[in-house]
Amino acid sequence: MKDAQIKKFIAEEKARQKKVINLIASENFVSPDVLEALGSELTNKYAEGYPGKRYYGGNTVTDKVETLCRERALKLFGLSPEKWHVNVQPLSGSPANVAVYTALVPQGGKIMGMSLDQGGHLTHGHKVSATGRFWQQVPYGVDRKTETLNYATLKALAAKEKPNIIVAGFTAYPRVIDFKKFRDIADAAGAYLMVDMSHIAGLVAGKAYPSPFPYADIVTSTVHKTLRGPRSAMIFVRKDERGLDKLIDKAVFPGLQGGPHMNQIAAVAVALKEAATPAFRKYAAQVVKNAHAFADELTKLGWRIISGGTDSHLILMDTWMNGKGIPGKEASDRLEKAGIIVNKNAIPFDTRSPFDPSGIRIGTAAETTHSFKEKDFRKLAHRMDSVLRK
Ligand SMILES: *Cc1c(COP(=O)(O)O)cnc(C)c1O
Repeated sequence: MKDAQIKKFIAEEKARQKKVINLIASENFVSPDVLEALGSELTNKYAEGYPGKRYYGGNTVTDKVETLCRERALKLFGLSPEKWHVNVQPLSGSPANVAVYTALVPQGGKIMGMSLDQGGHLTHGHKVSATGRFWQQVPYGVDRKTETLNYATLKALAAKEKPNIIVAGFTAYPRVIDFKKFRDIADAAGAYLMVDMSHIAGLVAGKAYPSPFPYADIVTSTVHKTLRGPRSAMIFVRKDERGLDKLIDKAVFPGLQGGPHMNQIAAVAVALKEAATPAFRKYAAQVVKNAHAFADELTKLGWRIISGGTDSHLILMDTWMNGKGIPGKEASDRLEKAGIIVNKNAIPFDTRSPFDPSGIRIGTAAETTHSFKEKDFRKLAHRMDSVLRK
């Protein structure tokens, strides 16, 4: 690279990533093949439209790339092309979610989604997000006592509010989601069921977490979290007489986006192929085993884990413990000084401010890519404990 300044920054970031322990639950380390696809000449090409129906000439190769990417996406999750369609053009998770609402929810209509402070994502209708400006959120949370979803409460809320769409799938909820119960709730309210599996997609692909596909109308997902691909997203749509697949395609392009990032779509295809291997299935299982061991060891050391444990890659840890411990921001700062990267996070019913909440969110996906096993996470729990002691 001739640009010495950027070259230096890239080298610095590469070194930083090598040096620290990465516990950011939404991050991972992609393969050299994914990087190669991202850095390819496919970035030069305009490909507005879809395979076979482009607005520019010269798209013979990009058509093959996007078609292959779609085929791999459906195959990875065991979906037949007669029953499911997938759009692989969303530039990232947030625009994918906005595309779904644009397609299916009238302006001012209701999105029933989990509140940000209980584990939902901004794009599930929060007021600082465009999704909370153009649509109305019907917020829900977890049960105060169990810190898990209470499906009876959700059903009553949905029956009362009659949302247009119900969103299941979260950014800070460590437990298994009962997708079948969400289906019943959506049916009782006459709502679409959208599952946002951004965090857990790799675990679903590796059969280490239940699949939402038997129950959802729409499944959105990022590719860059547990699925270990490039920053990107996909929208899976059940094909039926309502024609949702056409509505979604129209909402992505021309509704929201212009030309798709073809280098990114090629990199998604590479990641999807990697995720279909036995090695990836082992990886996904290990991610969850590691999270169990990590949560167990932290609990033994006296820390409070939200909901008492985890069923995924993600752990929400109460570092404040009502004043017995330290605030989330201080926890995150102290850990960073010790070379351990986490993010501060609100815990359900947090009494502290969102800028300095009571906890941290940690995940095992990234360091499992670096071959960490249960014993490594147990050791890490002890290291964290000594850093975090009041
Ligand atoms: C990460 C995430 C998103 C947003 O993805 P971006 O690529 O950051 O826009 C949306 N929904 C959920 C549940 C997520 O975890």
